[in-house]
Amino acid sequence: MQSVGVIGAGQMGAGIAQESAQAGYHVLLTDVSKERADAGKAGIGRQLARAVEKGKLDSEAMDAALARIETVDGVAAMGNCGLIVEAATEREEIKRAIFAEVGKVLGGSAILASNTSSIPITRLAQATPDPARFIGVHFFNPVPVMGLIEIIRGLATSDATVAAIETYAAALGKQVVRANDAPGFIVNRVLMPMLNEACFALGEGVATIRDIDLACQLGLNHPMGPLTLADFIGLDTCLEITRVLFEGTGDPKFRPAPLLIKYVEAGWYGRKTRRGFYDYSGEEPVPTR
Ligand code: NAD
Repeated sequence: MQSVGVIGAGQMGAGIAQESAQAGYHVLLTDVSKERADAGKAGIGRQLARAVEKGKLDSEAMDAALARIETVDGVAAMGNCGLIVEAATEREEIKRAIFAEVGKVLGGSAILASNTSSIPITRLAQATPDPARFIGVHFFNPVPVMGLIEIIRGLATSDATVAAIETYAAALGKQVVRANDAPGFIVNRVLMPMLNEACFALGEGVATIRDIDLACQLGLNHPMGPLTLADFIGLDTCLEITRVLFEGTGDPKFRPAPLLIKYVEAGWYGRKTRRGFYDYSGEEPVPTR
């Protein structure tokens, strides 16, 4: 598997492309347009330059990694990729449409993986060219920093597919956990109810943004508060995952908080739109409530 295709050049796709290139793979990176893919690659360049400035990477390694990332317009160029990782927006219809396109080019033994945070792999597999060669590969944000991949096996996923992904994860230096194909897998099943509950608490006026975050950070010894983390993940992504948990289990304990829905309706997605529970337009994030 020398070439890896990455679909979606947002925060996750860019991180996956970066890590794959740094591990020595040739990467084809695409998004809704070549311009978006180029913007994703430019972001990777900035990340790597920062690592060079901090002395964590030498500039030759940066140049070599960037040279291994080729931006392309669509998936048509990915026919020679041994692995294609889909990391597009967390909406099932978008992913299904992408898989239909991938089906036209996926090589005979190539693997298609989805970085979905929450959509059932067995269900998504139905839209892929070969469910035996389809698997969930759930990276964490930011990909270059977080050392974990959750591997989610659909009902039809083959042992060979699992083994190939474990080899890929090892090449990237990531630890692997295996989760069953249940809504939210492991990490989001546990995390999202906490983030959602923080939104309920804020919406019900229990405390301010600062105090909810500081309480959890210092009181639970978490590296950051839940509202900061939700902004970081993306409120749109948090809402989609919570909806999948709610609909997938039918359990009312996963009901999305009305305030979370409102923020997403307002287009306040967090860091990526510079406005979420915090305002990111200045030097330091400022709580908005
Ligand atoms: P993002 O919004 O930063 O990026 C999504 C990208 O997908 C955008 O650049 C968008 O233009 C692109 N896209 C949309 N439709 C497309 C299409 N048809 N073809 C190609 N590209 C398309 O979102 P993200 O945070 O990078 O999330 C991407 C995926 O990773 C989602 O499935 C999400 O659930 C999952 N994920 C996110 C996190 C997180 O913390 N943000 C963690 C693990 C997994």
